[in-house]
Amino acid sequence: MTDETLSNLLHEERRFPPDPAFAGAALAQPELYQQAQADRLAFWDEQARALDWTTEWTQTLDWSNAPFAKWFVGGTLNVAYNCVDRHVDAGNGERVALHFEGEPGDTRSITYAQLQREVSKAANALLGLGVEAGDRVAIYLPMIPEAVISMLACARIGAAHSVVFGGFSAEALRSRIDDADAKVVITSDGGYRRGNPSALKPAVDAAVVNTPSVKKVLVVQRTKQDVAWDDSRDVWWHDVVDSAEDVHQPQAFDAENPLFILYTSGTTGKPKGILHTSGGYLTQAAYTHRNVFDLRPEKDIYWCTADIGWVTGHSYIVYGPLANGATQVIYEGTPDTPHKGRFWEIIQKYKVTQLYTAPTAIRTFMKWGDDIPAQYDLSSLRVLGSVGEPINPEAWIWYRKHIGGDQAPIVDTWWQTETGAIMISPLPGVTTAKPGSAQVALPGIGIDVVDDAMKPVPNGSGGYLVLTEPWPSMLRGIWGDPERFKETYWSRFEGLYFAGDGAKKDEDGDIWLLGRVDDVMNVSGHRLSTTEIESALVSHPKVAEAAVVGASDETTGQAVCAFVILRGDAGYDESQSEAVIAELRNHVAKEIGPIAKPRQVMVVNELPKTRSGKIMRRLLQDVAENRTVGDVTTLADSTVMDLIKKGLRAG
Ligand code: ATP
Ligand code: MG
Repeated sequence: MTDETLSNLLHEERRFPPDPAFAGAALAQPELYQQAQADRLAFWDEQARALDWTTEWTQTLDWSNAPFAKWFVGGTLNVAYNCVDRHVDAGNGERVALHFEGEPGDTRSITYAQLQREVSKAANALLGLGVEAGDRVAIYLPMIPEAVISMLACARIGAAHSVVFGGFSAEALRSRIDDADAKVVITSDGGYRRGNPSALKPAVDAAVVNTPSVKKVLVVQRTKQDVAWDDSRDVWWHDVVDSAEDVHQPQAFDAENPLFILYTSGTTGKPKGILHTSGGYLTQAAYTHRNVFDLRPEKDIYWCTADIGWVTGHSYIVYGPLANGATQVIYEGTPDTPHKGRFWEIIQKYKVTQLYTAPTAIRTFMKWGDDIPAQYDLSSLRVLGSVGEPINPEAWIWYRKHIGGDQAPIVDTWWQTETGAIMISPLPGVTTAKPGSAQVALPGIGIDVVDDAMKPVPNGSGGYLVLTEPWPSMLRGIWGDPERFKETYWSRFEGLYFAGDGAKKDEDGDIWLLGRVDDVMNVSGHRLSTTEIESALVSHPKVAEAAVVGASDETTGQAVCAFVILRGDAGYDESQSEAVIAELRNHVAKEIGPIAKPRQVMVVNELPKTRSGKIMRRLLQDVAENRTVGDVTTLADSTVMDLIKKGLRAG
């Protein structure tokens, strides 16, 4: 994946230098890079000192048993104290921590002082249910304040949480509870989704039949729908938490005490229980959140639209923002309930200053049309973030123009469940932005792009993205499977962490993510990146979203097959479909080169996505190769594949 990729690069020449006014006042200044460069470990020591430690560490990093890292060795702290109590102690108890916006329109604003009492009550209740430091607690909740409170309550008593996304099935929940041997499950009767109450407890009831480790199920009442009840096992939150003592003395735990296990979404295979610990994780979550979003806790209103079930919800709703004393919005529902302007309405209402969302959402908004956000006052926004997939340059431009008022810097943040926190991102006010590129490693982070022989590729070439230095929020392993940890991440290139993503360095050495290496296609011996062809398609004014896969082809080995969703205002009608398809094929050939010209372009209404919004290309590959479609259990909407197949037969 080296020179061949080079010859097929999509050219993106637009540049957005920082606004001088923003740059002058920005939190992160260019010196941060030099400082980290001069002494990386001293730099991380300094970032760790932004937290409150009970015992100072004696060693910054112990890498003697690589790849098993220990950061801030000997240090002790309480993560929940850092995220809640210390802000109260500093006199900021009246600051709002969470503005909760329920899907039906109900709201709650919770100050840091109130959060301290709620977390203390929940901590006392968990102790009363028999949870001890070192235990695991599974959390299966909608996006309601109790989700945040539950995570912090676990952290407070030194138990590790394992949050399972509320959209996952009983079987997915069961296997995760079982793998982690969770003692308690925290759930709710249901949550609101697309205008209706959607049940959660039945999945827990089904799951715990086969999970002997579970002693108690703690149930939040959210929707008041009927639930089955087992008196010996189930307890209501409003019984045991509301009546619990609202004072709890936090105890300090070792920096390496497990904080959580989070199973990766399974875009590629069997979910892995990624283990994160306390001191290093919190240090990097807080540091990145502050600098990447230019956070001013005393005046900003930050909003991350992720679900708490993903790592983004862990690091950039719970731990990073709360460690920094931020005020933030959390929203329970979907962006189109009760109307397609819901996000913009929320931003206008709370005067949100930083928005952190995913390319899949941005492309959906593009598809719905510019006129929707135009009806709202979005002028409070000053930094926009993107995470989860490569953002196509055209989606980036749309985001900046229609959401950011042609002004707000965009931070395209590359990271993974495994990295725990952002690793590659522009810094607002510092970096001259390039649409579609995550650009540079954050200060303190070591990255490179290497070829098959582990040699760093020169600027202008593509290869494999690797992390060259241990980092504080790195995963400490795969729960219960140290061999799989070494095998998955550390065996491909000796001494380097292999992220599984392809990337290229441009002429300036900036990083462009090319998608997962498993998705890279080989057409007549040329390695083609799915991301680049998708971005070429999205750069056509008629296209909102595109997914590209390689399908086996007798003459070329693999051929490019594209699935596209057209923009709402594209003025497309069925009779023109052949002309549109021809136009799109030629467009890709022109933008990238004839080698990338899709053999087929299929117009569809939906694409198969995981519940965190990532396109599941392997299912599209099944369609393109006329195979039976594989496992669809992690899809957000499992009927999508039927629609696509039906649409294709009709077309
Ligand atoms: P699994 O590992 O189980 O297949 P997953 O990789 O989808 O699941 P995550 O850890 O949520 O689970 O996603 C991390 C991946 O998302 C990265 O490896 C990368 O492929 C992609 N990604 C995240 N942010 C970006 C970004 N800003 N640009 C490009 N790709 C990104
Ligand atoms: Mg992954």
